[in-house]
Amino acid sequence: MKLPQAAAPTSLPPSTNPADEAGQRIGGSSETSYAAKHTPSAASQGILNTDKLEEVKKLFTAHLENKGLRKTGERYAILEEIYARSGHFDVEQLYAGMKERGLQVSRATVYNTLDLLVEQGLVSKHQFGRNLAQYEKSYGYRQHDHVICTECHKVVEFCDPRIHGIQTMVGELLNFHILHHSLNLYGICGDCRAQAAARTSPA
Ligand SMILES: [Zn+2]
Ligand SMILES: [Zn+2]
Repeated sequence: MKLPQAAAPTSLPPSTNPADEAGQRIGGSSETSYAAKHTPSAASQGILNTDKLEEVKKLFTAHLENKGLRKTGERYAILEEIYARSGHFDVEQLYAGMKERGLQVSRATVYNTLDLLVEQGLVSKHQFGRNLAQYEKSYGYRQHDHVICTECHKVVEFCDPRIHGIQTMVGELLNFHILHHSLNLYGICGDCRAQAAARTSPA
């Protein structure tokens, strides 16, 4: 296991090209906004806060009991694996990560445990315009949205409190108790645009 690294997305320095990276600066101060790159294939270990993990386990236990499901070791091992990861991952990456660590679980158990965790809001599920759904832990982690590059499929997270404001306002206006939201912005990242420009311009 690698040494723990900061799990929270870090603030980026102000961009020198406002038109390019406006999305990373919205939200004002670095306290209210952030952006961070996630390498989808990285099984990097985030800080595994033991208290938080215990809380999550308790919630999961209550959910399993409510549904009359068995509290198997495999299900908890999957939950722990997820909360030990940082960033986004798909089912295959999760399955491979567990296998690497010598944890025996069936694919079917991984799939149905993920479904249970998503249903309960302990894990969020995203479709970033590719075939396989991406997941990430969500309990106790900061609410954020995503910008996705359609060329290299890089996913950048950002946080803007105005989005939460819109959610609250729309809920009040339309008399909805809003549970969650999903906001993905798609575009071509600076790196990909630079590469394309380099290809087309004469040396
Ligand atoms: Zn890109
Ligand atoms: Zn995310």
